[in-house]
This record gives sequence, structure tokens and C-alpha cells, in this order.
Amino acid sequence: MDLALSPREKDLSALGRRFCDEVLVPLELIADEHGELPMERRAAVRQAVRDWGLAGINHSKEHGGLGLTMLEQTVIEEQLGRVTNGLWSCVWRPPVSLKYGTKAQVDAYLRPSIQGERRGCFAITEAEAGSDPRRVKTKAVKRGGEWLLSGEKWFVTSYNASDFIIVHAHVDDDPDKPTLFLVDKPPRNMTHLRSPKFMHNFAFDHAELRFEETPVPGDRMLGEIGQGLDLTKSWFVEARLQIASHTLGAAIRAAEVANDYATQRHQFGRAIREFQGVEFMLADMAVEIFAAKTMLYRVAWEIDQGIDEKRVHAHASALKLYCSEMAGRVIDKALQVLGGRGYMRENPVERLYRDIRVDRIWEGTSEIQRVVIGGQIRKRGLGVYSDWH
Ligand SMILES: Cc1cc2nc3c(=O)[nH]c(=O)nc-3n(C[C@H](O)[C@H](O)[C@H](O)COP(=O)(O)OP(=O)(O)OC[C@H]3O[C@@H](n4cnc5c(N)ncnc54)[C@H](O)[C@@H]3O)c2cc1C
Repeated sequence: MDLALSPREKDLSALGRRFCDEVLVPLELIADEHGELPMERRAAVRQAVRDWGLAGINHSKEHGGLGLTMLEQTVIEEQLGRVTNGLWSCVWRPPVSLKYGTKAQVDAYLRPSIQGERRGCFAITEAEAGSDPRRVKTKAVKRGGEWLLSGEKWFVTSYNASDFIIVHAHVDDDPDKPTLFLVDKPPRNMTHLRSPKFMHNFAFDHAELRFEETPVPGDRMLGEIGQGLDLTKSWFVEARLQIASHTLGAAIRAAEVANDYATQRHQFGRAIREFQGVEFMLADMAVEIFAAKTMLYRVAWEIDQGIDEKRVHAHASALKLYCSEMAGRVIDKALQVLGGRGYMRENPVERLYRDIRVDRIWEGTSEIQRVVIGGQIRKRGLGVYSDWH
């Protein structure tokens, strides 16, 4: 059993770390004060992603991407996860579903997205449809040669950084026909209702959109009618690994800040780490990080080995659940070690505390992950998690 990272994986991890420290961290307070990354800063960051060789991190060379293994992507994403305000999303990851498009769609949407010339956002969630996408009310009706989309979408992340939207709609209002559509911005008959404020400040916005018979050319359907959920599922595993990587990076940064502080800070005549109450918190943080990292690298490695897709799904759910909840516990402890300073917005631990809360909600809530894991145990037995293949 060889658990060592290869020299290339170590180099990529170091590259991610340098990019995070040199390009993204200096933007943290600016993004926090502004509520998002100011528009006038965006082009320079996009160029930096290209200059540092990080464009197309999650796509094949065939489509112009970097052709990285999942473990290689993971070690980079882990480092990006250190940054606050969701600035990791400046390093784009075009949705995997785009690669299932026609050749014309791949050329018009995927290839330029990989180069950072275009960017797409994903619109599935609605007021009445969150964990249960069958409740989606947005419908697509074919009229003449085009589709007309009608409905309202919520939480559309990175809308104001995107030039197209991937909209999940039910053809003819039929929940058995979930289908994806590529909608170029600015579409006719679509209103940007608002981009509300959230607990975290994020690099880009989370928009609410209303489509009122928005016309979409007939050749902009992605995949087949009824394939919408399957195409989106192909993104789940990757998105869950990405969240696990980010939350691990966030937890490590918070633990490092707390560990340093515990040495420097003196109360009652000694460094606070000499109080067992503080040292036990540091110990628990380290153990949680150790477990999460081991699990993350294992699942990334399994994907690279091409193990059975169902097993990968099962493991990715467990990983997303564990890492997002682990980061909540670790960052909470880090904040406690820092005392009042940890509660100040200028402290990265305060921002990480706000940032990682959403990781238990998006891309499948913690409860939905438990539903998946429980179902896997029922169907395949506990060995899905307890065996070592
Ligand atoms: C900041 C942010 C950005 C987002 N970005 C996007 C985006 O870009 N595109 C997009 O389409 N969506 C996006 N979302 C939406 C996100 O995916 C949903 O919030 C998520 O799927 C949960 O849906 P919901 O909020 O409607 O909660 P609900 O589904 O209403 O759930 C409410 C509560 O009920 C629980 N629950 C629901 N069903 C079950 C069950 N079967 N068993 C046990 N418990 C259950 C949930 O776990 C949760 O605790 C974003 C959300 C946020 C907060």
C-alpha cells in the first residue's frame, strides 16, 4: 500500500498554495467589505488563473483542459479552500454536464468556459424545489423551432460572473422530463429579480431570476429530454469532492491560526496552550483534520482507479457529509481558542466560520447525504463503508 503523494501531486499542491496566498488572500478583505469581488478586479484575477496554468482544472486535454487526475485536482482545491469569501470560485470549474453536449455546444460553451472566456451558472433550485427537484415548476414548451421557458429560479450562484445560464426545466410541465437548457445572457423575457445578501460574502452573487416565456433556440437543449437529473448527477461526485477539499483547506487554515495563537497568547503567566482545556481543543482539531484528509485522498484515489460508479457515489456522499461537518467543528474550536479576536471580521477564522456553514446545505444537505448513505447500507450492506478493497 503506497499512500505517498507523487512529486507531481506535491508540486500541484504547492502551486495551489502559492496561488491562494499570492493572488486570492490579498483580495479577502476587499471582497468582505464590498460583499463580493468588485467588478473591476475580476478581469485581472481571470488572467492570473490563466497565467498560473490553472485554467480548465476539471476537464480533459481533449477539450482544452488540464487533464488532471481527481487526486491532482483535489490537492489544488484543498489549498484554494484556505481562502475566505468563496474566492476559490475564481478558479473556474465548468460544469461536467457541458461535455455531454453536441459538438457545436462543446465548441460554443465548454471550450471557451475552460479558457475562462465564458462562464456558466446553474439554475435548478426554486422557491418550492430544493432537496426535491421533482417539485420544480419551471417549464419548457416547444413552439415552432424554439423552447419557451417560464418559472422562477433561486440561489443562482455566480450569475453576475456568467454569460450563460444552465436552466433545469420540466418539458411540458412533466416532472418525468427534467431537461437542461443553455440560455445565453441577457435573455429576452427574463428578469433578474434580486441578488440577496447571505451569511457569507462570496466572490460572486446568488441571484433570483424570473423567466416569462423566455425564448431559447431549439439547438440549446443539453442532452435529451428527461436527461436533466442524470446530467446533473454526473456533476455531484465532483462537486462533493470539491466541497470536501475546500472545507478541509478551511479547517487546516483555521487550525494553524489557532495553533500559532495558542503559543503566543499568554494569560495567567503562561501560554494558553499550556492549559489543558486549550490543548485538548487543538488535539481534537488535529485528529479531525487527519481523519478527513485521509478519507478525501482515498476517495479521490478510488475515482482515479475507476472503481464502480455506485461505490464512488456512496463514498462521495459520506465524504461531503464528514468534511463539511468536520470543518464546522474545527473552525468553531479555532474561534474559541482565539477568544474575542476570533470574533473580529478582520480575522480569517471569523470569515471561515461564516463561509463554511453553507457547505452543509448546498450540493445536497447533510440530511440528504445521510439519506443516500442509509440507502447504500440498506442496498449493499455496511461493507460499502467498512470494507477495504
Ligand atoms: C449560498 C447558496 C448558493 C446556492 N447555489 C445554488 C446554485 O447555484 N444553483 C442551484 O440550483 N441551487 C443553489 N443553491 C440551493 C441549494 O442547493 C439548496 O439550498 C439545497 O439543495 C437545499 O434546498 P432548500 O434550501 O430548499 O432546503 P429544503 O430542501 O427545503 O430543506 C430544508 C430542510 O429539510 C431537510 N430535508 C429535506 N428533505 C429531507 C429528507 N428527505 N430527509 C431529511 N431531511 C430533509 C433539509 O436537509 C433541510 O434541513 C444554493 C444555496 C445556497 C444557500
